[in-house]
Amino acid sequence: MSFARLIGNERNKQILQRLLGNGRVSATLIFAGPDGVGKRQFALTFAKAANCQKAVGNSFATDSCDVCLTCRRIDEGTYGDVTTIQPDGQFIKIAQTRALAEEVYYRPREGRQRFFIIDEAERLRDEAANSLLKTLEEPPPTSTLILLTSRPNSLLQTIRSRSQRLNFVPLTTAEMESFLTENYPRPAADTALLARVTEGRIGQATAFDLSVYRQERRTLIELLELLASGKDRVRLLKAAEYIGKKERDEFEKELDLMMSLLRDVFLLASGSSQNEIVNVDVADKLEQLAGKIGLARSIGWSEKISEVRRNLRVNINRPVAMEAALLGLAEGRV
Ligand SMILES: [Zn+2]
Repeated sequence: MSFARLIGNERNKQILQRLLGNGRVSATLIFAGPDGVGKRQFALTFAKAANCQKAVGNSFATDSCDVCLTCRRIDEGTYGDVTTIQPDGQFIKIAQTRALAEEVYYRPREGRQRFFIIDEAERLRDEAANSLLKTLEEPPPTSTLILLTSRPNSLLQTIRSRSQRLNFVPLTTAEMESFLTENYPRPAADTALLARVTEGRIGQATAFDLSVYRQERRTLIELLELLASGKDRVRLLKAAEYIGKKERDEFEKELDLMMSLLRDVFLLASGSSQNEIVNVDVADKLEQLAGKIGLARSIGWSEKISEVRRNLRVNINRPVAMEAALLGLAEGRV
């Protein structure tokens, strides 16, 4: 995807396009920011623009064309001058960085500029990182190094001081909606929900399964209604069992979803507009629920669920914990 089509992180886009415009692409860069906000995509677009066949004369193109053979091969991951280094097991090992430190000094194989993208750079162990310092400080003019990381503070200070850092942030809801509308058209209600539920992380949005989400959400909304009425103990126990029996990862997701719903209920109960909640497509239903649950209980319930989630670290018995929590909520002990 070209810079023209990428949305969000506009300042980083300007910085990279300026480097291309000034012909100063040989550099060591750190792209820092949460997973899924577009760091890898920006690195690839930068690499494409620097090698794009649409460049005129000696200058670099300031954006990728996305149609020339070079751009397409970089997108496919088959271009000889764009290399991605990923952790081998838990860490990026010294053998990998030594090979990289050597490779960096070779001339481009087929294009104009070589790119080395180090994924999850926080997994560079000290020894491996140290073997790269000289390379990072002054990469040869035909090589560019980009370190991607969600935890920039765990990079060695000696690495950070030798690199230029670009911070990436999640997209705003409006940016995300316009990105999705343009690139992945779907019904407006789906776009609105997806933009909110993935919290501005493009990487998440492209792989997110809305139908599974809606199905789980329906079950949990029913559960909240049941809790609000507080009468049907048998159905409550069944619901506790259904959730409690899930594998740990799935169980965590259920709790997160429940907290997200309770947060929406809290917002609506405190008078926020429907547009401010995550689950906009079921706003009316949640509004009714907010009327039944009320402000105080929405806070108390959310605290209780987050307590169950915290206790997961000590390997609790999930069905038992869920049963105790739900009965507690229904009987007004929270
Ligand atoms: Zn191109």
